[in-house]
Amino acid sequence: MIGALRALESRNDIRARANLIERIAELKTNDRPEDELDDGESTVLESTDCALAQNKSNVAALAELRSVTSVCTKCPHLAAFRHTVVFGVGNPNADLMFVGEAPGVDEDLKGEPFVGRAGELLTKIIQTMGFERSDVYIANVLKCRPDMPTGAPGNRQPTEEEMSNCLPYLRQQIDLIKPKVMVALGGVAMRGLFGTNEPMKNLRGRWHSFGSVPVMATFHPSYLLRNQALTEKRKVWEDMLLVLERIGRNITERQRNYFLKG
Ligand code: URA
Repeated sequence: MIGALRALESRNDIRARANLIERIAELKTNDRPEDELDDGESTVLESTDCALAQNKSNVAALAELRSVTSVCTKCPHLAAFRHTVVFGVGNPNADLMFVGEAPGVDEDLKGEPFVGRAGELLTKIIQTMGFERSDVYIANVLKCRPDMPTGAPGNRQPTEEEMSNCLPYLRQQIDLIKPKVMVALGGVAMRGLFGTNEPMKNLRGRWHSFGSVPVMATFHPSYLLRNQALTEKRKVWEDMLLVLERIGRNITERQRNYFLKG
């Protein structure tokens, strides 16, 4: 029972609702009828109603989109190979959205993006930025695990055709979530989003635009797992500092100095 309550407590949408309800209760402590509230107070009530409605409609629209993608057969070879369609996870109203390339073996089995080793590192990056994983939204340009010959280990990169078949789903997710900022994780994500083949060293650390959404390109966490040099960690971290600045988060001195030598 306690475990179930804790799980509810950690859910973003429930926490947001609880905060709104608390705020409404605060405004109503004087027990005045709504028509006696001053302008500022009724505006808060209207905007909380509006926020609740928006949250509800986003959750419903994302759920509907999820169910459409879950039976997708645009890439028949992937539909035959996959265990699950890995739609995406996180806050339906997130300010910050991360986009990776495609599910690997772990994600395909669990149905959630970034749950393997690269995912653990991504979660650490998110937490170091001052968020919980459930505060942000995480998705991939391709929602099915790229198929592999029977018994072959590892994963392969998605093809252009697979990514362009899948891109409309990601576009709809972005349109619904309306993040303030996106982070593209690695060259394949950048290719899927923008069709660019530029090397990451030229793309990272700069803003790109996906429609009206600013996109920061940075190295994929798997790159950092392969290359543990402090300089490379610092590059990713500098990209994340730019993201934090862009979404107007306070950056502590400690955060500014992560992965600097000495
Ligand atoms: N790498 C990705 O790009 N996406 C995942 O979901 C997992 C690993």
